[in-house]
Amino acid sequence: MLKGMSSDCIFCKISAGEIPAKKLYEDEQAVAFADIDPKAPVHILVIPRQHIGSLAEIGASEQEKTLVGHLLGIVNQLAREQKLGKGYRIVVNIGPDGGQTVDHLHLHLLGGRQMHWPPG
Ligand code: 5GP
Ligand code: ZN
Repeated sequence: MLKGMSSDCIFCKISAGEIPAKKLYEDEQAVAFADIDPKAPVHILVIPRQHIGSLAEIGASEQEKTLVGHLLGIVNQLAREQKLGKGYRIVVNIGPDGGQTVDHLHLHLLGGRQMHWPPG
């Protein structure tokens, strides 16, 4: 797994507090903040502090699996705090075809409206 921070990465800068964001949760491993261009009434991004380019870089090591499980746990905790008991969606875009625009792993938590299927 890649270690540390990428100096030209916007999400690394948000993690480090160098760019402002509305942070909703943070710990040693992860940060959650409001998406700057929300696609739903609740739209929160959950990221690892470590610069990992995308979910495709996650392998089978215990450390990597633990980190992804931790991120999912944070999403669920935020969903409870945001009162999304009727449901919500977790999205992870991967690579150009997946619609990923920021190359630092992030989980989208979307909620507060009816989601549609299939996604665009
Ligand atoms: P992606 O398209 O890579 O899956 O998602 C990137 C998300 O990051 C988009 O929803 C976009 O609105 C959000 N985003 C991009 N730049 C910033 C920023 O500077 N601050 C915040 N809070 N969100 C950002
Ligand atoms: Zn980064």
